[in-house]
Formats: sequence, C-alpha cells, structure tokens
Amino acid sequence: RMHLRKITTGSSNLDELLGGGVETKTITEFFGEFGSGKSQISHQLSVNVQLPADQGGLTEGDKIAKAVYIDTEGTFRWERIEQMARCLGMDPELVMENIYYMRAVNSDHQMAVVEELFELVPKENVKLVVVDSVTSHFRAEYPGRENLALRQQKLNKHLHQLGRLAEVFNVAVVITNQVMARPDVFYGDPTQAVGGHVLYHAPGVRVQLKKSRGNKRIARMVDAPHLPEGETVFAITECGIRD
Ligand code: ATP
Repeated sequence: RMHLRKITTGSSNLDELLGGGVETKTITEFFGEFGSGKSQISHQLSVNVQLPADQGGLTEGDKIAKAVYIDTEGTFRWERIEQMARCLGMDPELVMENIYYMRAVNSDHQMAVVEELFELVPKENVKLVVVDSVTSHFRAEYPGRENLALRQQKLNKHLHQLGRLAEVFNVAVVITNQVMARPDVFYGDPTQAVGGHVLYHAPGVRVQLKKSRGNKRIARMVDAPHLPEGETVFAITECGIRD
C-alpha cells in the first residue's frame, strides 16, 4: 500500500473511522438519505485536499493538489466552498480556482466526463475526484426493477472507470449515493435500500451517513476490507465538517 495518502474530512472522528481520512487509490462511497451530509462532505474534501500535507491535505510546497467536482443534480454551491475556505484561513478565490466544476447532464455524459479526466488529472495535479451523486442519472434513465440489470451493468462500467482513475493516478475518488429511508418501498434494488450501496460488489470503502440530533450526523463503516467496522459522530457547522 505504498504511496497511499489521506485527505482529512475536517472531523477527527470521521478521519479516525476512515483510518486517517479519505484515501487515494480508492473509491470511497458516502451513502445515506437526503440531508445526511453527503454533499457537505464532498464540498469539504474539495477544499481540504488543497491544504498542505501537514494539515491533512495533499498539497506539496507550491504544487497545489486540486479537485474535480462532478455535479449531477445541480447541488454544488460556490458560496459554501468560499465559506469553508475562509474558515480554514485559505484564500477563497484561489481555492475556487483549484476546483474543476463539471455538470453531468446524463449518465453517458457523466461517463464521458470521467473519460476526459484521464488527461486532466495528471496534467493539473488533481488529487480528488468527486461524483455527487453517482447514481441519480442512472436511476432516472433506467427506472424500476425491470431495468435493474441493465442499470447495474452501466453503473459497474462507470465504477470500473473511476477505480482505474484512482489507481493509475493515485487520486482519491469520492462518490455519493442517496438511499431512501423506506427500504420496503425499494425492495429488490440493492443500491437504493437502506444498508444498500453502489459499491455492492466493487472494491472500496463504504460509509453510511445518518441524521442525528440537530447538526450531528452518524457515520458507519460498512464491511471495509482493511478497516474495523464501527460508528462515529460528526457535525455539519457553518464552517463545514467538524467533530
Ligand atoms: P441530498 O441527498 O439531499 O443531496 P446530502 O446528504 O447531500 O443530501 P447535504 O447537502 O450534504 O445532504 O447536507 C445538508 C445539510 O447540511 C443541511 O440539512 C444542513 O443541516 C447542513 N448545512 C448545509 N449548509 C450549511 C451551512 N452553511 N451551515 C450549516 N449547516 C449547513
């Protein structure tokens, strides 16, 4: 596991659950219901990757580690990035410049965007690729149980593509997946039931997020190959992800 590096989430509890942070050469999936914090963690990581290595980021000297944010639902907010950067004493303009924002309009576009990253990532020292959410277009385009097999086939191809990107360029890939609070309604769909996730058969790290009291959230590690199972609590504050 040489050269494997970690990006801080902003919460030492969550970092500890992840074995030090979100790691490179790996796909990390955050899944949970709406408002559980998937997008907030994605925004925070896009800022934090730019921190110097001794502060939990992957920037080395003046070689800034950059982020790609693939937004499928139009939920990305530059103002949130600004706010998070300010809280960390970083220059918000510079932080925003080092996030490549890409809007994927459908699943084919989403896959084409990732294909293009095989050029951009090494050229621009991208160290984090976020896909928020990885599943929304696939679900919309291949609805219902009758399309499940085809959808899963397409999604697996996409995950394979992302896995290769992570491996070849030593970058962290973070994907989000919204799951429903009513598993019975989505019975038969392994990616949408609670406890279900897209990395069902693919290698990677899976973290389930749950709402708790107020701004508190619960994160649970799900069948990680090299990490202990467990739960922890973190918070979504004005400044972003914290303990
Ligand atoms: P969805 O699946 O609907 O996209 P999600 O899991 O991505 O949901 P997030 O957008 O990550 O959810 O989290 C939303 C929550 O983050 C809000 O309910 C709010 O509690 C918190 N939040 C968002 N912005 C701020 C802010 N500026 N200050 C404090 N808390 C915030």
